[in-house]
Amino acid sequence: MSLAEIQTRIAAAEAEHGRPKGQVQLIAVSKVQPNARVEQVLEQGHKVFGENRVQEAAGKWPAFRARFNAIDLHLLGPLQTNKARQAVELFDTIHSLDRPKLASTLARLAQESGRCPDLFVQINTGKEAQKAGIMPEDADAFIDSCRDLDLPVQGVMCIPPVDETPALHFALLAKIAQRNGLSSLSMGMSADFEMAIGFGATHVRVGSAIFGARSPAK
Ligand SMILES: *Cc1c(COP(=O)(O)O)cnc(C)c1O
Repeated sequence: MSLAEIQTRIAAAEAEHGRPKGQVQLIAVSKVQPNARVEQVLEQGHKVFGENRVQEAAGKWPAFRARFNAIDLHLLGPLQTNKARQAVELFDTIHSLDRPKLASTLARLAQESGRCPDLFVQINTGKEAQKAGIMPEDADAFIDSCRDLDLPVQGVMCIPPVDETPALHFALLAKIAQRNGLSSLSMGMSADFEMAIGFGATHVRVGSAIFGARSPAK
């Protein structure tokens, strides 16, 4: 499916759910995609991209940034504390703030450098043992502690369990954002971004629907 088709579907979902036009940001998830494919999307003028791994992003985005201006790069995958400094230098937004240790590390780096990417707190809405994220019942206290550290938390993010309908997870995430006064909701992927927009998503993360199926991770 083309970038234009996805943008059309996003606009239609905004209209259908009474959302202001252009409120939903499309993050084109370029992880594991060949550079030539990513370049095609850059050449169509798209600026907002998502990556899962710091190392992979460091290998490809500095060169793209040198050729295309105003790129807006989002980290979506788990961030190890020892890669936090590199992530802060590389990314405009981090969607995977998922534990106190990472919050304190980011706060220290922000103090040192005077800047910090925008942050989303990842919530483990399905309470899955193998998945990262703050448990829903701990979300309010964790968001408070991030604010105490002066971290620029813009919103919350979730990755619903693969074997459940995502609707309940989107609704729960929206509720957590609302009661914490957060305006941004990072939810919805290739299979369910229109539904996520219905529940208030402001950032949808779409990979395979734009770029085609990913070859298995190397
Ligand atoms: C890979 C990934 C996506 C995109 O998934 P698709 O199903 O290809 O759209 C979105 N969010 C996160 C966190 C991802 O890791």
